[in-house]
Amino acid sequence: MKDRDYYLKLKTLERDHFICQKCKLEDKTGIKLEAHHITPLYKGGKDELDNLITLCFDCHHFAPNDKEGFDEYMKEEMEGTLTVLMKSWDKVRKEHPELIKKLNEEKNQRLKQSMLQKASRGNIVSRAPFGYKIENKSLLPAENFKEIEEIFNEFLTPNMNLTQLSKKHNLSVNGLKKILSNFTYLGKIKFDGQIHQGSHQPLISNTLFNHVQNKLKEILRN
Ligand SMILES: [Zn+2]
Repeated sequence: MKDRDYYLKLKTLERDHFICQKCKLEDKTGIKLEAHHITPLYKGGKDELDNLITLCFDCHHFAPNDKEGFDEYMKEEMEGTLTVLMKSWDKVRKEHPELIKKLNEEKNQRLKQSMLQKASRGNIVSRAPFGYKIENKSLLPAENFKEIEEIFNEFLTPNMNLTQLSKKHNLSVNGLKKILSNFTYLGKIKFDGQIHQGSHQPLISNTLFNHVQNKLKEILRN
């Protein structure tokens, strides 16, 4: 019986092109539409396409339970709250596509922001970089966080090289290079192939980081 109900509803909606036959609300998903019995089953109406018509929820709600009343009803203008809203929305969509575009962009922005927050909380950053720790899925400065600024500053002192500095801090040269070029220390995170502002605390300033990048480039060039 359920299957037949569903089949009949679908057939009715299809025949009526998914448009409420009273207020002309269109809903291709069919979610806001009903197949209404013109003569109700309890009054001897048949459960067949001829006795069915597509109405939206609002128009269905106010539809009279008899054929005569219903014919009269279909002639009147009727605008339910949902219908008015949907129609206004359709109008906005058609007349102001730029507004819809902006709304979609804002939605995407919010989505991106929430993914960034997740990434920053350590859901994507699986291991905390040197100087940070992961606590309650958040990236926090670790007990040794001051060592990061020291390393960056020491690297800039004249005659300091990667080998010397790595030995001083018990790091491998490669590990040190990774630290010196890790933008996580700027409060940023890599996500989706791009660098974004994260929500964790930076450990060094942009200026310090940039100076270090310049010296790194110089050293690696030679
Ligand atoms: Zn309607």
